[in-house]
Parts: sequence; structure tokens; C-alpha cells
Amino acid sequence: MIQDLHAHTNYSFDSPDEPKKVIETAIAGGITMLGICDHNYGVGLARRELCYNRGTDLSVDYDRTLRHYYEHITLLKEKYEKKIKIMRGIEIATAIGKHNFALPDSADVSFFDFCLVESLDKVNVSIAKGDIFSFAKRCGCPTGIAHTDLFKYISDIGESPYRYFKKMAENGIFWEINVNLDSSHEFKPHDYVSEFFKNKEQQEIIKKTGVKLSVGFDSHIISEYKPSRVHNACSLIKNMGIKLMFENL
Ligand SMILES: [Zn+2]
Repeated sequence: MIQDLHAHTNYSFDSPDEPKKVIETAIAGGITMLGICDHNYGVGLARRELCYNRGTDLSVDYDRTLRHYYEHITLLKEKYEKKIKIMRGIEIATAIGKHNFALPDSADVSFFDFCLVESLDKVNVSIAKGDIFSFAKRCGCPTGIAHTDLFKYISDIGESPYRYFKKMAENGIFWEINVNLDSSHEFKPHDYVSEFFKNKEQQEIIKKTGVKLSVGFDSHIISEYKPSRVHNACSLIKNMGIKLMFENL
């Protein structure tokens, strides 16, 4: 399986591309499973001006907009089912910053096929408070940790990587190998990913604990999409004997 579980569309206001264009680009690139995974705030706040300048108006119906997005992606999933497996995802901001993009406590995301959680390692500003196990229960759907140097985070909190990844495996929480290389991240690859592909000890821990990985390009603009990076990562992971999330679907 060639999996890209992290693709943005114009539901995230930092991408200009319509979902069907994103899907067709993935099909052309030989991707066999695509996770559409837009930002909770882009989807939930629904309009650009609300998203970036919410002010004091909190009257938007967050749950309704999440459902609308889910249903739209469901229609596309059905339309393209003979060509590609579409997964309906949502990327969850947990950091409380200038714009307060974090997922509201009341928002239900349990019906999504999966979610990716951001900023787990920003313990002081994250609504997840560094505890992915409780936060995954709150999300209520298969949960992954997005673009995070988990080996560093685990060492910073004084945990054993073996124990931590084992607990993730037991709780069905996966770890994202983010292979982005586009202008949304200034064409900078993630150092933790290069390290993981070199570091046999890290690979052994992932393999022995049985934790699953996901591969995501985190595409924000399809003209800069590089499916070869996704293909490479999937085959390296496969050759290590490590499982990808949703491999058996
Ligand atoms: Zn993303």
C-alpha cells in the first residue's frame, strides 16, 4: 500500500486546492490510500475571516461544519472508490496561540476515520497537556501524533521509549512520518524523519513495540506535491517489517 494520510484541501485556508483536485493528483501519483486531513479550525470556523479573525463572535456552528466537511469527503470517497481508498481525517490543533485554533472542548470528532494531533510536545500551551492517551480518548477515533520528534519528546519527559511506544500500540495510537517538502514549510524536511530512517535502534523499538506508523506528505499545494517521497517512505517502512496504520483495510 502506498499511503499518504495527511493531505490538506481548501477546507484548510492555507491550501488553495479543491478536495477532488487533491484526490486526482494523488491518483496520478500512484497513491493507493489518501487521508484528507484538514485543520479543525479551517473546517470548524468555515469562513476565512472567522478563521483568522474570530474576535468575540463564537456563534459559528462548529459541529455542523465538521459534519458538512465529513459528508463532502464521504461523497468523494464513494465517487473515487475504484481508484483510491479515501480516509476521512481531521488535523487537530492543540496549541493555544494568538488565534486560538485549538479544538473546542465541545467539538465531536469521534466519527472521523482518524485524526492527527499537533503540538503534543508543546506541553505548556497544548490543551492535550502532553498526555496523548487521555486526549485520544477524548477524540474517540483512531489517533495519530503528527509531525513530532517523539523520541526527543519521550526523552524530555524522562520516559522509556520502549514503554511509551508499547503503550501507544496498546491504545491504537500511531506516529506520523511526515515527508513534507513544499513551500508551506519552506522546503525543510523534518529532521526526526531523516534520523528515524538512519537509526536502527529507533527502528527496532518501533518494530518490537508493534506501534504503527503513518506516512503523510502534509501537502498544502498540489503543484508542489512529491509522491515519490511518499512511495520511498512507504517502501522503507515496509522493508523494516513495520506496519502502516490501516494497512489491512
Ligand atoms: Zn497538516
